[in-house]
Amino acid sequence: MKKKVVVITGGAGFIGSHLCDRFLADGFKVIAIDNLITGSLRNIAHLKKNKDFDFLEHNVSKPFAIKGNVNYVLHFASPASPVDYLKYPIQTLKVGSYGTHNALGLAKIKKARFLLASTSEVYGDPLEHPQKETYWGHVNTVGPRGVYDEAKRFAEAITMAYHRSHNVDTAIIRIFNTYGPRMQVKDGRVVPNFIDQALHNQPLTVYGTGKQTRSFCYYSDLVEGIKRLLHSNLHNPINVGNPQEFTILEFAKMVLKFSGAKSKLAYQPLPIDDPKQRRPDIALAKKYLKWQPKVKLEQGLQETLKWFQKHGCDGK
Ligand code: UDP
Repeated sequence: MKKKVVVITGGAGFIGSHLCDRFLADGFKVIAIDNLITGSLRNIAHLKKNKDFDFLEHNVSKPFAIKGNVNYVLHFASPASPVDYLKYPIQTLKVGSYGTHNALGLAKIKKARFLLASTSEVYGDPLEHPQKETYWGHVNTVGPRGVYDEAKRFAEAITMAYHRSHNVDTAIIRIFNTYGPRMQVKDGRVVPNFIDQALHNQPLTVYGTGKQTRSFCYYSDLVEGIKRLLHSNLHNPINVGNPQEFTILEFAKMVLKFSGAKSKLAYQPLPIDDPKQRRPDIALAKKYLKWQPKVKLEQGLQETLKWFQKHGCDGK
């Protein structure tokens, strides 16, 4: 039987590269596209010789064509950490808008199912807690994070428009904080920052009071949620994340405990518009995808620490 073909934009990124691995393991052909501004060839180096894997270095904000049959288009290209999207604000807006338009165009012409990687950032600094998919969000359009939040909100809107007007088979996943091997050590997010600091016995930089909360999902749980959504017939946005909620201070203490580091905490100013709380309501994912996370933070954090000890701390 002919193998199904999946195109993954952002395929050299943290989540994108794990998706490449999973689809190859599940017997698909994978075409990864990435312009490598935040992704890295290191993440896909082990796939270079795989005959079912192709890599195209390209910025998906510019038009592109793929030869042959395509069954699925997964649009994961975007800077995704606050540090990265503040460094690349225009690129972030472009990949959310032009990039999504181009990826949808590919899905339309190939009659492929399209899956958009959206984000909990569409909820902004949420006034509803935990966040349900029905919540419309609380976003500062002109604040520094607006470039990511609004790009993803636009991306959701154009995805639904392609579904409604062009009958494209689309899905939207709202991804909450995800962590694990292959995060870039310098991407500025709390997980790689604290781990890198702990492994170097440097102070852990806690922004604000550290009382803001996040809910951390291990990458393998997310990948399973993505696959289930892709193979469902859902079109409306669906939250995928881990509802176990921690303050950043609690998280810092866990990193110290599992790394054995004696680092102190260094309090720094809270970034502008930093959400005060975040936790997904995953009732829809449970009901329609029969999905819920399996990996507890204690377990995933230890795996991630091991990976960073081995690969992650070379300053790249
Ligand atoms: N944070 C922190 N120290 C760091 C990096 C981040 O205290 O070195 C905080 C940040 O202010 C936010 C939370 O950790 O409240 C998660 O930040 P991250 O950049 O990982 O992603 P976000 O969830 O804000 O997109």
